[in-house]
Amino acid sequence: MRYGEESAAGAALIAWYDRAARVMPWRVGPAERAGTRPDPYHVWLSEVMLQQTTVAAVRDYFRRFTARWPTVGDLAAAEDAAVMAEWAGLGYYARARNLLKCARVVAQDLGGRFPGTAAELRTLPGIGPYTAAAIAAIAFDEPAVVVDGNVERVVARLWAVEAPLPGAKAELTELAGRLTPAVRPGDHAQAMMDLGATICTPRGPVCALCPVSDWCAARAQGIAAELPRKAPKPEKPTRLGFAYVALDAAGDVLLERRPEKGLLGGMIGFPGSEWSAEPAPCPPLAADWQEVHTVRHTFTHFHLTLRVFVARTEGEGFTPRAAFSPAALPTVMRKVWDAAQSALSPQPE
Ligand code: SF4
Repeated sequence: MRYGEESAAGAALIAWYDRAARVMPWRVGPAERAGTRPDPYHVWLSEVMLQQTTVAAVRDYFRRFTARWPTVGDLAAAEDAAVMAEWAGLGYYARARNLLKCARVVAQDLGGRFPGTAAELRTLPGIGPYTAAAIAAIAFDEPAVVVDGNVERVVARLWAVEAPLPGAKAELTELAGRLTPAVRPGDHAQAMMDLGATICTPRGPVCALCPVSDWCAARAQGIAAELPRKAPKPEKPTRLGFAYVALDAAGDVLLERRPEKGLLGGMIGFPGSEWSAEPAPCPPLAADWQEVHTVRHTFTHFHLTLRVFVARTEGEGFTPRAAFSPAALPTVMRKVWDAAQSALSPQPE
C-alpha cells in the first residue's frame, strides 16, 4: 500500500465486513448496529476470554458466563470459587482472578460502568494495551489502534514490511494507526480481526478473496506468505559444571539436597560445582575421582554440560542404596546417575 491509499483500502475493508462479518455471541454485527451499542461488559468479557484462547473455545464459556452473571454487577457479587469453576478449562487462571478484581472495581468504584477510553481502561486489573484498545474501539467507538498478532501480520503484508518482529512492532503499530478510521473504528478493528483469522492467515493467505488485495504490496511482490518475518530467537548460552557420584563398598550413595531457591530448588542431586561459564572443580571429599562421562541437558534458558566423576570411597552421610530411588531424581541428575552406572561394575543387591 502506498501512503494516501489508506482510506480507499479502509472503505473496502468495511464494505467486506458489512457483507461477511463473523457471527459471535458477544458481537453486535453490522446489520444490528443501527440503534444498538455493544454492551461494554460483553466486549470486555469476550476480550479477556480471548487472550491466548481461540474464538471457538470461548463461545460456550461466554454464553455460560453471561447467562449466569448477566451484568458486571452480578459477576462482581459472585463467589470466587464459582467463577473459577466456570473458568476451568480456559487456562491461565490469573486471567480469571483479574477478571473478578476488575468486575469488582467497575461495580464498586465506577458505578457499574466501564470507562470509555483506552487510557482509562488500561488502569483496570487484567487489561493491557491491546485489550484496552479493543474494548475502547468496539464498545465505545474510540479510534484506538488495535494491534495484535493478526493485525501485525495483515499490516506487514499490506505495506510489505520486511523488517522482522519484534523489532518491527513500532512501525507496524504506526501503519495500523494510518489505517484506523475516525468513523466506525470498532467495526474496522473487528474487520481486521476477521480478515486475519479467515483470509490473511499465517501460512496460506487467500489473496484471491481478500477485500484489500488491490492495495497489498506483499501480494504484488509475491511474498505474502513469508511475512511478517521474525528475528531468530537468541541462542541459548551453554553453562558448564562438575558432578560427583561417590559410592561406598555397600553401594550407598552420597547425595545432597539443592538449596530451596534457584533451579531444581529443594530437589535431591549429586554434589557438584556451580553451573557457569568457568566453574571450578569442587569434589565433596578427597578420593580417587575418575572422570567417566559428559552429560548434556537443556533447561529453559541454557544448555548444561556436566562432567561426571565417580569414586569408590568411604565416608559419612551416605544414603543407603535401598533408600535411594533414582526415579525421584530430577532429569539431569538421572542422567548423571545413568552415566555413573554405565561406568561402574554392577553392585551387589
Ligand atoms: Fe493478506 Fe493477501 Fe489480502 Fe495481502 S492480499 S492482505 S497478503 S490476504
